[in-house]
Amino acid sequence: MDPRTIGILGGGQLGRMMVEAAHRLNLRTTILDADNSPAKQINALSSHVTGSFSSSADILELSKSCDILTTEIEHVDTNILEQIEKEGKVDVQPASETIRVIQDKYLQKEFLIRNKVSVADTIKIDTPSVESLENVGEKFGYPYMLKSRTLAYDGRGNYVVKSKESIPGALEALSNRPLYAERWAEFTMELAVMVVKTRDGRTLSYPTVETIHENNICKLVYMPARTTVDIRSKAQALAEEAIRHFPGAGIFGVEMFLLKDGTILVNEIAPRPHNSGHHTIETHSTSQFEAHIRAILDLPLPPSTTTPRTSTTSSIMLNILGGPDPDSHLKVSKLALETPGATLHLYGKTESRLGRKMGHITVVADSISDCETLIAPLVTATSYTQS
Ligand code: ATP
Ligand code: MG
Ligand code: MG
Repeated sequence: MDPRTIGILGGGQLGRMMVEAAHRLNLRTTILDADNSPAKQINALSSHVTGSFSSSADILELSKSCDILTTEIEHVDTNILEQIEKEGKVDVQPASETIRVIQDKYLQKEFLIRNKVSVADTIKIDTPSVESLENVGEKFGYPYMLKSRTLAYDGRGNYVVKSKESIPGALEALSNRPLYAERWAEFTMELAVMVVKTRDGRTLSYPTVETIHENNICKLVYMPARTTVDIRSKAQALAEEAIRHFPGAGIFGVEMFLLKDGTILVNEIAPRPHNSGHHTIETHSTSQFEAHIRAILDLPLPPSTTTPRTSTTSSIMLNILGGPDPDSHLKVSKLALETPGATLHLYGKTESRLGRKMGHITVVADSISDCETLIAPLVTATSYTQS
């Protein structure tokens, strides 16, 4: 299909599902991560690199055994990616500049504001102190959201500043991290859109989904989002507009807030496959993972790529998180096998931890209400994650 080898920074579940998609098309992939990481388990090659996507030496090593570099995570060393890009022997997609901007959530916000994409009001905090956080409170009112600019995921790095009194706790919780603050978004729903950007700069978007978080971790994804067709198409347009400006090709996850008055704000962007696009494996003939591979290699991506299989195709995705017992997630998984219309994905993580993403289940039917009926017992079976 294509003689080039794709090097993937990170071998977690996203890398694993990228490998699944690539292998179906006879495409070679080689992974940088710890031995036996989820993506390596399904790809028996000797050219994998043992190490970390945050180490420049390890990334350089990976670049020696591939023709194109891509990533399943944004927390990578972008200086070395830029150097590799400049040397020109190995292609980097999306561009290192895109990953550099997105991995710092404050730079990402500045970039979106500069490109006139609506986001929550944002203030940079140069010197975190009671005084500087009180100043934010005076400007934004309470609550507001204090966020780490870097290394954030699953809400680790966020702190809700409820009042003046919670400022010392916020400073302690996020000590030694570069910070910025966001005005509180009074959202009625969280939306997400997966956008594919092609090598020639076209954008295509998968349908708008609704994401439901529990303890800051994505728990459920509804496709389509339970809102109007108008809101759903506005969200797709906003997401495509946000991604249009970033250099390079690939799939991007765009998280958004829907406010009471119908305004939509971009929350944050991921320069890679995203949890809110997992359902596309079942609902579309081309999944987000395959779309990413096609985009970076400049393989065909017809406009129909992002259209669901039928006009009524609906789905709900449920994350299977680690529970109180080492096998809590396996009990849910067995129940999924008995559920009609359900597809089970387990990620091969050898150790379960509370709240760790161990797998997911997708149910597909002709309406959201049919999906709800199918998923209900599985949602009950995962209630061990409620705190
Ligand atoms: P992810 O795992 O998606 O990368 P993250 O750690 O980067 O998460 P965010 O997406 O910034 O964190 O925030 C996590 C959640 O916190 C959001 O999905 C939303 O529910 C809530 N949140 C974030 N920012 C705001 C805001 N400004 N106002 C209200 N709620 C917010
Ligand atoms: Mg994030
Ligand atoms: Mg997020």
